[in-house]
Amino acid sequence: METYDGAPEPGGAPALSDAPLPTAEEANPEHAAKDRPAEDQTVTEAAADEPVVEQPVKLLPVAELHLHIEGTLEPELIFALAERNGIELPYADLDELRARYEFTDLQSFLDLYYANMAVLQTEQDFADMTRAYLERAAAAGVRHAEIMMDPQAHVSRGIPLETCVNGVASVLANSLAEFGVSTLLIAAFLRDLSEESALGVLEQLLAMNAPIAGIGLDSAEVGNPPAKFERLFARAKEAGLHRIAHAGEEGPPSYIIDALELLDVERIDHGIRCMEDPDLVEHLVAERVPLTVCPLSNVRLRAVDTLAEHPLPAMLAAGLNVSVNSDDPAYFGGYVDDNFVQLQTVLGLSEFDRVRLASNSIRSSFADDERKTELLAELGYS
Ligand SMILES: [Zn+2]
Repeated sequence: METYDGAPEPGGAPALSDAPLPTAEEANPEHAAKDRPAEDQTVTEAAADEPVVEQPVKLLPVAELHLHIEGTLEPELIFALAERNGIELPYADLDELRARYEFTDLQSFLDLYYANMAVLQTEQDFADMTRAYLERAAAAGVRHAEIMMDPQAHVSRGIPLETCVNGVASVLANSLAEFGVSTLLIAAFLRDLSEESALGVLEQLLAMNAPIAGIGLDSAEVGNPPAKFERLFARAKEAGLHRIAHAGEEGPPSYIIDALELLDVERIDHGIRCMEDPDLVEHLVAERVPLTVCPLSNVRLRAVDTLAEHPLPAMLAAGLNVSVNSDDPAYFGGYVDDNFVQLQTVLGLSEFDRVRLASNSIRSSFADDERKTELLAELGYS
């Protein structure tokens, strides 16, 4: 029986809390240990002048549908790879690098994100980054991941396409056996570059038989509307690839409409600004269009002022097909489990909604039916 799918929870959105946004380590001190098991965790929400409040948080099996592998480069790995490759970083130490993680908007993040990619030079570097993500994701309850990489960001700095694709793909090929995480690779294209550039890289990927399941569209959204990439997405569809696009993160609701109508995408990454257009919400609900929402990312990039003001509860109450994802977890304060912990702590997310979000993520994935059935059964559906 499909117990959790359907009408919003009676009573509508959960009540908001005035509690300050805890850091990932405050919310769950066990995150410091990378080897913690994927089982029940205890959340500790502590403030200097308040008693410790502990809440049980159960990790659910989820699919992560919005994840940029380059955004999983943790500061420690950046320094390790720089040392291995003899690259001098413009930061004296880890603290100086971490201090740069205060972003004012999407572009201020992108500047650091691209600069740090300089440490990725060899297949081994890409493989090490991918392995680190999968290990951490498995501990977060992720059982299926659809991983974006930005090939243009590497080719443009002289890294061969084969190096980045093979480095990531070599680890994904064994991810289920090694980490219990089934995976798919998605080539994401940078929307601030030209369509010709994207088409050129897509043709190379197809010519080399790269193991990609689909294409995405990311990077600086405003001023780079979906209409710019109609030929790219038509080519991807012709090649039998899945299609997703970032839309409605910083860009207006019309970008979501255009991504659906002009690019024929199957999922929208972010999409939170759909809430400004009731007709669009109605359409997205009717079509069950998946929206891969990234709450901690939205706070860090100032798409919303605080997590307490995040539209996720309203999106759930509206019946939208939303899931929770980490986007660029090394930069935004946490992985999928950190997002769920903070949603529960700050927004009072109910068990009902947590299960619904997990179910949405699995159903909205591009995994085959057998894998979806297996994961839904883990979630309690039969
Ligand atoms: Zn993203």
